[in-house]
Amino acid sequence: MNPARSCRMCHNAVDALATALLMPELDMPLTDPEVALLKLRTLCHECPACILSVIRQSKSTLLAYEFRFKEEAAAWWQKINDETAVREYLAEKAYL
Ligand SMILES: [Zn+2]
Repeated sequence: MNPARSCRMCHNAVDALATALLMPELDMPLTDPEVALLKLRTLCHECPACILSVIRQSKSTLLAYEFRFKEEAAAWWQKINDETAVREYLAEKAYL
C-alpha cells in the first residue's frame, strides 16, 4: 500500500485502511461477513472506495461477495449531492 495514498472519494488518508487490514476478522473464513462488513464500514467512515480497497487487499472472497460497490457508491454520491444541495440552499437563503 502506498503510504502517501489518500482516497479519491472521501479524501481520507490510509490510516483507517491500514487499521482495517489488521482486522483478524478479515483472515477468518468463518467470521460472519456481515459483522466484518459492519466493522469495516465504521473504520472506513462508510466510504465505499475505502471499504472496497480493504476487501481487495484482504483477498476475502466472502466479503467481496457480500459488498456491492456500485450500489454503495451510488448511495454515497447521492448523499453527498443532497448535502451539497441543502448547504447551497441555506447559504443562498442566508445571503438574501
Ligand atoms: Zn474513502
